[in-house]
Amino acid sequence: MDGSPVRQSANLILLGAPGAGKGTQARLLAERFGLTQISTGELLREAAKAGTQAGAAAAEIMQRGDLVPDEIVTQALADRLDAGDVGGVIFDGYPRSVAQAHALDALLAARGRTITAAISLDVYPESIAERICGRFTCSTCGEGYHDRFKLPQIAGECEVCGGGDFSRRVDDTTETVLTRLATYAEQTAPVEEFYANRALLKKTDAMGAIGAVASRLSACVEEALA
Ligand code: AMP
Repeated sequence: MDGSPVRQSANLILLGAPGAGKGTQARLLAERFGLTQISTGELLREAAKAGTQAGAAAAEIMQRGDLVPDEIVTQALADRLDAGDVGGVIFDGYPRSVAQAHALDALLAARGRTITAAISLDVYPESIAERICGRFTCSTCGEGYHDRFKLPQIAGECEVCGGGDFSRRVDDTTETVLTRLATYAEQTAPVEEFYANRALLKKTDAMGAIGAVASRLSACVEEALA
């Protein structure tokens, strides 16, 4: 891990459609560059599992594929940013609207931070449903797998931790994916322009093997942190 001041104060955003690989790639980048991955989807799933009031409200909305109200998500994000020294951060799943992009500016400014870069993961729209519907995760360590693109080398055994318990997200179904894609097109896609207008946007081809995409993204991050 590199503890250089640039990395310690970095605020990188990963943008891209549902299923573009933001979670998988954010995890790899966090490891490689010593950043903290903050996934708002993961924060909401944790709140839902913990049975908090906000979590219960979010769970129903997430299952439909709609966006959870800003006050719930932005509060969850603020709490996470304030939970100990997060160091450099890679945001995964936030902002998902131009209003949230403004909210993120304010959240960061209040903590003496600014956005380093927003990197979009570009995938063919027709590949998305297949990318989403086949994915599953090790319940113990969180390693991601896919029915078609990345099965564990030994069936039923996680390659990272050896665990044998896997789970699928309740919102990774064909019906929900359609709503998630429509929501993305309407509300999230304009966020790219928001950052392009501020010369903060970098685009990456996110089609292909996980390792190949990770290399392209790492080059982008190196450039952003230089
Ligand atoms: P993700 O894990 O990023 O795919 O997010 C899963 C679901 O959580 C989304 O479909 C939304 O319902 C909800 N969610 C995650 N991040 C946000 C956000 N920034 N704003 C609103 N809803 C969100």
